[in-house]
Amino acid sequence: MDSSKRKFLALSGVAIASSLYGGEKEESKKEPAAAKPLTQSTKAPLPDTKKPRVVVLGGGWSGLSIAKTVKEFAPQADVILVERRQEFISCPVSNLWLVDKVDLEYITHDYLQAARNYDYTFFNATAIGLDKKNRILKTSEGDIAFDYLALSPGIDYDYSRWTTDTTLVTRLKQEYPAAFIPGSEHITLKNKIHNFKEGNFILTVPGGNYRCLPAPYERACIIADYFKQNKLKAKVILLDENNAITIKKKGFSTAFNELYADYIEYVPNAAIHNIDLDKKIVTTEMDEYEFADAAFYPRVRGAKILETMGVAKDAKDMMEGHINCLTYEVLGEKDIFIAGDARPMGFSKSGNTSNTEGKHVGQIIAARVNKEKAPSWEPPITMCFSAVSTVPDRAIYIYTRYSFDKKDKDPKHIKFTDWKKFSFSETISSENWKKDGATDAASIMSWSSALYFDMFGAK
Ligand SMILES: Cc1cc2nc3c(=O)[nH]c(=O)nc-3n(C[C@H](O)[C@H](O)[C@H](O)COP(=O)(O)OP(=O)(O)OC[C@H]3O[C@@H](n4cnc5c(N)ncnc54)[C@H](O)[C@@H]3O)c2cc1C
Repeated sequence: MDSSKRKFLALSGVAIASSLYGGEKEESKKEPAAAKPLTQSTKAPLPDTKKPRVVVLGGGWSGLSIAKTVKEFAPQADVILVERRQEFISCPVSNLWLVDKVDLEYITHDYLQAARNYDYTFFNATAIGLDKKNRILKTSEGDIAFDYLALSPGIDYDYSRWTTDTTLVTRLKQEYPAAFIPGSEHITLKNKIHNFKEGNFILTVPGGNYRCLPAPYERACIIADYFKQNKLKAKVILLDENNAITIKKKGFSTAFNELYADYIEYVPNAAIHNIDLDKKIVTTEMDEYEFADAAFYPRVRGAKILETMGVAKDAKDMMEGHINCLTYEVLGEKDIFIAGDARPMGFSKSGNTSNTEGKHVGQIIAARVNKEKAPSWEPPITMCFSAVSTVPDRAIYIYTRYSFDKKDKDPKHIKFTDWKKFSFSETISSENWKKDGATDAASIMSWSSALYFDMFGAK
């Protein structure tokens, strides 16, 4: 560099520094903005409308499907999707992302794209309460008045059967997250798998109707597959609170025995009595297990926001939506609906279930907007592919609908407790992964691509 250039840079550096310094002095003369009183009620920054307003809480598989469908069947409605996350990360297919079989882009999707394609408004905020009387959803970004409200906030974890020690719960969430709610937890789990050197890696299967029945077994296979490929002296210990594999039993048990005999130890009836994180020992009624690392999946419950809003009821200790099981409407609250994994019915808590159910609930709400007769009850569809190995790609599959036993029951008088009357129907499964596994593995990608397209539309 010649000396004239050096001089110029030195001078301009001084000039930039002094202008920044001067700016700071100007800035410091201004008074700080007065803090807003916490109780002050503010309207959310959304355009006023004379159209019927449908607010959907939760941009998961359920809420996305409801928002899209309401707009499809009642285009005159002003539909607002309220979601606390800025982008959608899919739990389905995330087990494959853990071992780099798909990249993050494949399972991450854009809420703004969905809102543009389907002509509704995406509102990035956290719901904090519900004023039922005045029909207002309270959010971190202000109040939203609604005519119709759909609540699809998903699940929260319930650690209370393991411990009431809040220090232990905080440590479990932070150091050994379940990775059954999308986002940060999955990143932690992926790092754990990739950094694992040797020893026992504990996974748990909770009791009750937990989110995605096959996913813990699929995850055990995928992690064991990774250990096997990388020739680690490592084993997945799968502690199952249930007395047997809860779904696709034949497919998973043959995979455990034939593909991962040295890499998976499956333990049924393994309700956890104690977790000692310092000694790294888990105690069940029958045994003790040492672990080098773990991801502890506790029981689930309806998302806590439903309880805050006063629309949850405790059945099966799960605080799920207090709804009419055929119309999804909150009992005693007209035009407020709850769907998705927060529902009380014993449907499999799955994305496909939430998507097909969301389309039905969206049509029920659109019919209200249009002042038409609501469509009669339709069963959701659970369709779920689970990978059992990645080298080569092999998967298994189940399809089921649900039937409602309406013996001596007038549908007008369906109660919350009638969730007990649903059972699997028209079930088909494909669990012979040696014969059909390659086709089912390919279907994981075609199914997920089709569903992402359905919920988000074209890029
Ligand atoms: C590892 C794994 C694998 C899976 N595999 C499959 C599969 O292969 N096939 C399948 O069909 N299903 C699968 N599932 C299940 C599927 O992910 C869930 O059943 C589905 O996400 C439920 O949809 P939902 O809309 O009810 O809840 P979610 O998808 O969890 O959506 C709830 C949304 O509400 C938002 N929210 C909650 N509270 C608030 C609030 N107060 N304010 C604002 N926003 C809020 C959340 O941020 C979230 O985006 C899998 C799940 C996991 C964890």
